[in-house]
Amino acid sequence: SGGLERHTYDVVVIGAGGAGLRAAIAAHDAGARTAIVCKSLLGKAHTVMAEGGIAAAMGNRWPEDNWEVHFRDTMRGGKMLNNWRMAQLHAQEAPERVMELEDWGALFDRTDDGLISQRDFGGHRYARLAHVGDRTGLEMIRTLQQRAVALGIDVFMECTVTELLKDGGSAGSTGRISGAFGYWRETGRFVVFEAPSVILATGGIGKSFKVTSNSWEYTGDGHALALRAGASLINMEFVQFHPTGMVWPPSVKGLLVTESVRGDGGILKNSEGKRFMFDYIPEYFKAETADSVEEADRWYDDKKNNRRPPELLPRDEVARAINSEIKAGRGSPHGGIYLDIASRRSPEFIRKRLPSMYHQFKELADVDITAEPMEIGPTCHYVMGGVEVDADTELSAVEGLYAVGECSGGMHGSNRLGGNSLSDLLVFGRRAGESAAVHSMSFGAGGPGTERPTVVEEDVRTAQATALSPFEHEGGSENPYTIQQDLQQTMNDLVGIIRTAPELERSLEEIERLKERAQHLVVEGHRQYNPGWHLALDLRNMLVVSECIAKAALERQESRGGHTRDDFPGPSEEWGSKNLVLRLNHAGTGVDLAHQPLPVMPDDLKTFFDPAPVEPVETKEGGK
Ligand code: FAD
Repeated sequence: SGGLERHTYDVVVIGAGGAGLRAAIAAHDAGARTAIVCKSLLGKAHTVMAEGGIAAAMGNRWPEDNWEVHFRDTMRGGKMLNNWRMAQLHAQEAPERVMELEDWGALFDRTDDGLISQRDFGGHRYARLAHVGDRTGLEMIRTLQQRAVALGIDVFMECTVTELLKDGGSAGSTGRISGAFGYWRETGRFVVFEAPSVILATGGIGKSFKVTSNSWEYTGDGHALALRAGASLINMEFVQFHPTGMVWPPSVKGLLVTESVRGDGGILKNSEGKRFMFDYIPEYFKAETADSVEEADRWYDDKKNNRRPPELLPRDEVARAINSEIKAGRGSPHGGIYLDIASRRSPEFIRKRLPSMYHQFKELADVDITAEPMEIGPTCHYVMGGVEVDADTELSAVEGLYAVGECSGGMHGSNRLGGNSLSDLLVFGRRAGESAAVHSMSFGAGGPGTERPTVVEEDVRTAQATALSPFEHEGGSENPYTIQQDLQQTMNDLVGIIRTAPELERSLEEIERLKERAQHLVVEGHRQYNPGWHLALDLRNMLVVSECIAKAALERQESRGGHTRDDFPGPSEEWGSKNLVLRLNHAGTGVDLAHQPLPVMPDDLKTFFDPAPVEPVETKEGGK
């Protein structure tokens, strides 16, 4: 491997979304030589697609909002399965992280008093999302990217990491992180990064499902890299299906329709014209949800004396309700239901508040959302599950390996509230960057045990051979695109919104078959820009991550948040106190699953949750 391109850093961040950028800035600020590696162009990460906003209890619209209420909403939204410490840190630190973005040049929408405006979103008791129209992610990425580049952080774009390297050998559970191995997408040439700290910030897994709001990049790479390095994943059974994705035309099926449409007055109707969400208010949220159309409609103008419309229940509830209406035959012509803001708000209001949605429907579906309802349906949107990390430092089970953002687990429990991802990226991105820098800088001080972990050359050769194997299969006949399509169909049909034991068992059998077929993959052509080859390498990750989801979904015999079992409706107390943890098995051929008790919340935080249901918002001065 003499001619191999090599780089040495203190901290290597894999991923250039909000989490990766924020982590890199923090690592750099702590004095670490830092690099960012990302598989697409800088600025193309998922974060840029975020529409609605960043959740932070800044209290700009509601002075009575504070971290305690945000913490409580987050835990309740996650059906109490969240890592309490992460939820606490997140609620406490999010406002500071938003203010900091503003210091760095982000231009948020304002209130009449000139404060950062905050909008309503499902599951949040107060208007809490700092936003820039419906293009918040764009502003966030722009700001973080400019800062990272201005600080001189090195960026390797269109470079995909396929393996993590460890000093004790890459396979198995021993050893410390010593670097990462990847390839340049354009040339197909390999590159080795040497660093004692690697931060995974690779985002989600949505491309394993057929209908998804996620883009081609979200193949669960970070999840799979962590597993292969010996780290563990939690919460993998919890996949968020966003209630409102486009259903037509077919080329854009799954594309997101922001929750802000409902936050700004949009309502859901079935083919009979009925506003059906009132039929689906669960006991758990009854006390805080309007039970009549009149109260729901009054809420938009008078939030003090009315409860929230049921359209703004947490996403899992709304997605299930829509699914039921479609199944009952009350769907729209293209298999969705109707989201109507046209009959509720003026064209001027809609175009001002939801400019991207207006253009998205106009250009892609030839629908004018100021004049007619949208057809929408659930779409795979977000994975709550991810790398199991320490709440304060984002360190995984492997020394030197950190995970942050959508590829980490624990923070959102069984269901994420809208807006809580962007804040998660900032809060834990900063924390991960700092801890990784401290870890890396602890080396080199002299004395035994302070040597930097080294890369094992044999592992580099193995990584090269593995990456090249799709070119070398004699007698192979499988095409990566066909396997990907079959996987997406399997996950959609058998591991989707509503699950049952027989279907999950079938999905696992099917995934085994797909794994077997993937052994016989062949790709045509050369190493120069070859998307078929890239997909072949991504598939390995998609398959192991899908296995994790299906296995955990079969094991968890209850319904909670983003995991609904038709054969076990409703939550169970026993399951409410444990996580399912997944690790790669010894042979590396599949995953093992274990039960693990949830971290126990301290008593002073527990008091936020009793008495159980919440009274409507009290009348006080100051809110709007
Ligand atoms: P991403 O932004 O997904 O970035 C991942 C990065 O990792 C990319 O740079 C990618 O190239 C890189 N990468 C991946 N694999 C590799 C590899 N093997 N090697 C090298 N690089 C790799 N959340 C909110 O809070 N509010 C919202 O309003 C909101 N709206 C959303 C709208 C849409 C349409 C979508 C899809 C999501 C939305 N979300 C929202 C969710 C939120 O945007 C994402 O969860 C979040 O942006 C994920 O950020 P991240 O930094 O973890 O990863």
